[in-house]
Amino acid sequence: MPLISKVLIANRGEIALRVLRACKELGIATVAVHSTADADAMHVRLADESVCIGPPPSRDSYLNIHQIVAACEITGADAVHPGYGFLSENAKFADILDAHGITFIGPTADHIRIMGDKITAKETAKALGIPVVPGSTGEVRPENALEIAREIGFPVLIKATAGGGGRGMKVARNEDEVEEAVSTARSEAAAAFGNDAVYMEKYLGKPRHIEIQVVGDGEGNAIHLGERDCSLQRRHQKVWEEANSPALNVEQRMKIGEICADAMRKLKYRGAGTVEFLYENGEFYFIEMNTRLQVEHPITEAITGIDLVHEQIRVASGAGLSVTQDEIVFQGHAIECRINAEDPRTFVPSPGTITHFHAPGGLGVRVDSGAYQGYKIPPYYDSLIGKLIVHGRTRVECMMRLRRVLDEFVIDGIKTTLPLFQDLINNQDIANGDYDIHWLEHYLAQPAE
Ligand code: ADP
Repeated sequence: MPLISKVLIANRGEIALRVLRACKELGIATVAVHSTADADAMHVRLADESVCIGPPPSRDSYLNIHQIVAACEITGADAVHPGYGFLSENAKFADILDAHGITFIGPTADHIRIMGDKITAKETAKALGIPVVPGSTGEVRPENALEIAREIGFPVLIKATAGGGGRGMKVARNEDEVEEAVSTARSEAAAAFGNDAVYMEKYLGKPRHIEIQVVGDGEGNAIHLGERDCSLQRRHQKVWEEANSPALNVEQRMKIGEICADAMRKLKYRGAGTVEFLYENGEFYFIEMNTRLQVEHPITEAITGIDLVHEQIRVASGAGLSVTQDEIVFQGHAIECRINAEDPRTFVPSPGTITHFHAPGGLGVRVDSGAYQGYKIPPYYDSLIGKLIVHGRTRVECMMRLRRVLDEFVIDGIKTTLPLFQDLINNQDIANGDYDIHWLEHYLAQPAE
């Protein structure tokens, strides 16, 4: 791969370490950037070089484009991997790197823009043959909202076109609720995203969240790597993810996967991406596409044996995909638990020093974490401190292994969400794979035993 020799990793925490590992395996030099709060982070220790890019607040460090470009110039990095979050879906950042002759390990700025605006994303998906949630074509205004809601049929969901993180969403269950739902969604969207445009969709009652992993080479070749079921969510944040979905059979998987791969071929999409759907009564409904690596990507790696960061670097350097669709074999079942430094019941963040840390091991176990004994978790960033990924030949084997592994994992000194997973692993609905996107909220609303 001649084009890339040194990658600057514009991120922190477990994902910075994840990207660093892939670069090392490919023989590519690494540059870590960090805020003053992250000087002791594992990815900083393991990188070939590191540059401090500012004070703790993200806007002054991990979101500071000028500092990151300057760090590339100082170190001679010829490519940037953005990880997830921060600048990973910032089209302006991709443009600026391009103008400086630095490779952005991700899609083109145009593709980021198309998918970043949800109305455009939905229209594009539809034109590419992807099934979408029935809803408004274009923006919904207070004047036309009622008429559109009647056409769609109640209940309806009003969503921000610039949306993210589940903000700016409001349900209207009947005609009387439309006006207020639209105006609240608009003002929430304006406050959160500086853009008050909203659109309307049919509100699905008990869907699952199922997403398809795709990778394209930018030349019209693309593959899909099956699906992930991320229905177990709290406040629209994923908590536990599985591949494959307990709800799909092989034919359904290959059919929706092929629809997505085909759409990426038509789009000449470059890089890794995730096409997200709600799934109800055997039907898929596109909700959005993320044009980056996702937190839960390791479960796809577990069942396919394909390193997604290797593929991202390959396609960014013009080396193409390492596999064709026919060569991909889906093996067994994988589950990821997101371990947050939070109280397992109230989810209040719990930063502090980790006094003891013992990661589990054995066949089929992967821990992606920058945490270690003595590590002080800074209070400035999100509370994900690690991911536990378990693989087995069947879902039953995977669950049995997860139960064993959760007992081995020791993180002392702070509160973590590990006990939540110990509860979930003993739940009958989870054992049966019988849950939708509301299941976890209902479960957590029950009084603790
Ligand atoms: P965001 O970008 O804010 O995360 P998404 O469009 O991805 O917004 O939706 C986030 C979550 O909101 C989904 O995972 C699902 O739980 C819920 N949701 C979104 N659209 C609908 C819908 N039409 N019906 C029911 N729930 C929905």
